[in-house]
Amino acid sequence: MICNCIICRYHEIATKGNNRNMFERCLVENIKRLIGREANCRVLRVRGRVWIERQDAANFGDAEIAHFREVLPRAFGLESFSPAVRLPVDMERIRECALELTRECFAAAPEHFSFRIRARRSNKRFPLTSNQIEVDLITRIGEEFGEDRFTIDLDHADYTLGCEVRDEFSALYMEHCPGPGGLPVGSNPRVLTLLSGGIDSPVAAYLAMKRGSGTAFLSFHSAPYTPPESVEKVKRLAAILNTYQRPERLFSANLAAFQREVRERCRDRYRTVLYRRAMMRIAEMTAERYGYKALVTGEALGQVASQTIDNLNTINRAVNILILRPLIGADKLESIRLAEEIGTMEISKEQVPDSCTVFAPANPATAVPLGAAEEEERKIPDYSAILAKIVDEVEIFTPGQPKNAVQ
Ligand code: ATP
Ligand code: MG
Repeated sequence: MICNCIICRYHEIATKGNNRNMFERCLVENIKRLIGREANCRVLRVRGRVWIERQDAANFGDAEIAHFREVLPRAFGLESFSPAVRLPVDMERIRECALELTRECFAAAPEHFSFRIRARRSNKRFPLTSNQIEVDLITRIGEEFGEDRFTIDLDHADYTLGCEVRDEFSALYMEHCPGPGGLPVGSNPRVLTLLSGGIDSPVAAYLAMKRGSGTAFLSFHSAPYTPPESVEKVKRLAAILNTYQRPERLFSANLAAFQREVRERCRDRYRTVLYRRAMMRIAEMTAERYGYKALVTGEALGQVASQTIDNLNTINRAVNILILRPLIGADKLESIRLAEEIGTMEISKEQVPDSCTVFAPANPATAVPLGAAEEEERKIPDYSAILAKIVDEVEIFTPGQPKNAVQ
């Protein structure tokens, strides 16, 4: 396939006023990190688009194009991208290249198919309008390959030839690959995701990144009641999530000492809510110590006993820090679909004991009043000291450097 540049398009960034520059710079930096410096590419901002081309302006090889297809869907902020051919602003060159691209495409196409041309002319000095460019090219292509080879379908064509005529250059492309959307990671302050080994919390972390916040991870285990595989599983999840951002830390905290106190002293039906309040407090202290501005959880309204309005309220009141719950309105199947898309589902579905299941009550309360939770906590004499010790003793890892990332 002939290709000497990648056109990257963004959508939401274009709606930004004075801050647009910052978002664009952030997007360019992320693209550079994802494609890797050794790729020897230039990543340029040219009026509303980002272009990737080789330093030597030569054509990209198939392996390079495959690499872009793999990594660019992880560049938040991108609406779509296209492997393209960049040309001078010259209709004759555009015609020649259009024939070359369609010849290659039609050779692999079925006997009959639908086709269309989408031209966009932002260069107002160019003698042809967008519509005239489309008519000119489709006429040439029809003459060359026979008009009965394809039908023109402007809405749902099997193949689309895209053409952009800009002030500086023009470009042609046959492919429109979807990007992940959202905002470039790093355009919002960093946050801390409470990451379990389940399905929801990795998806919540992904959604925080998609809105521009890089995220570190905090995971609770309950050694020796949970096996070392629980921590390993979370490390593997964090490694996948780290391919979407500059790799962030995973804090691993042992909740067992606190859980033992709760088991001995507190009402068993309240245990889960008491664990969750402690998790939030430990997370808040960790966030303050390491500079993360909000917490993120995978909670969804009504999913389990600890996620009723009453219990979420009692859990929320344990801390002052902002808690983001990107999945609050998500159906479990929606979370599963996203987990499959982002590549965490395979690991999440492995059955490994989680910290929360240690000493979990058979029949957890669905509405623990705030006052009742506070009363139970007062039964643990060293409550604050136990939590502070857990924070002091967190282990810190940086899972999985992305394959081609540059530090
Ligand atoms: P699942 O897919 O099983 O629902 P989950 O991670 O959402 O997995 P829940 O029991 O629903 O698990 O917990 C709600 C939220 O609480 C999680 O999304 C996560 O943010 C946080 N959480 C639960 N257990 C842990 C843990 N062991 N370590 C860190 N955070 C946890
Ligand atoms: Mg859940």
